[in-house]
Amino acid sequence: MELPEAKDPVLARVEQLRREFADQVVVLSPEERALRKVTDSSPLQWAYEQVAKERGLEPDSIRRRCKRARYQAGQRQKQQAAFADRHRWQFESYGLDIDAAWLDAVVELQDHLHMALFGMRSVGQALKALVESEWYPNNVELKLARERYRQLASDLKGLAPAGICPWCKQTEGVIEQCAPCHGLGLILECQVPGVPASLLSADLPLVLHQGAEKPLCAFVTEPNQEELFE
Ligand SMILES: [Zn+2]
Repeated sequence: MELPEAKDPVLARVEQLRREFADQVVVLSPEERALRKVTDSSPLQWAYEQVAKERGLEPDSIRRRCKRARYQAGQRQKQQAAFADRHRWQFESYGLDIDAAWLDAVVELQDHLHMALFGMRSVGQALKALVESEWYPNNVELKLARERYRQLASDLKGLAPAGICPWCKQTEGVIEQCAPCHGLGLILECQVPGVPASLLSADLPLVLHQGAEKPLCAFVTEPNQEELFE
């Protein structure tokens, strides 16, 4: 998943013009390219010159600013990746095989939540700075707003995927009527404290079926010998 990045407006303009010029260069024949002295770096050089004209600056100062902005964007992406690594939630499977495609979809869901929480972190820091600012001495409204914001972040963390649903364990014949996971086979962080200990054992996995705990193996049909040799 692509993470959105706050683009420097000068860099964004340079990239837009570079793409426009590059689109024109693509259709030129090799002879025309040679005649116009167009090289692979021409679109970027041309974009620097155009933006320099627009802003009344030297092309070199535009080039330096873009270089700095690209470096900062790269650093930001590294920070986001490190943040996601630190906050990657443990995934409980109770010793069962997890469908790879389903897991991919859950990881994507985790990434969305990471992105939301990562974005919230900078707002949290800004709110902290405001609370500590001399302009808001003991401001109750600001303190309350910050508290609500913290609660929102905490609520979002509770929506993080926590593992395979312990009630149905994604078992055919059980998952279809599973109320806690709505048939998705996924449990969220905020649901973890409510899971009965009896459903957490990986030694003898149990599922909740029609109000009663039953062994998971009662629902798993082994392929019969004839099917195996077909
Ligand atoms: Zn379930």
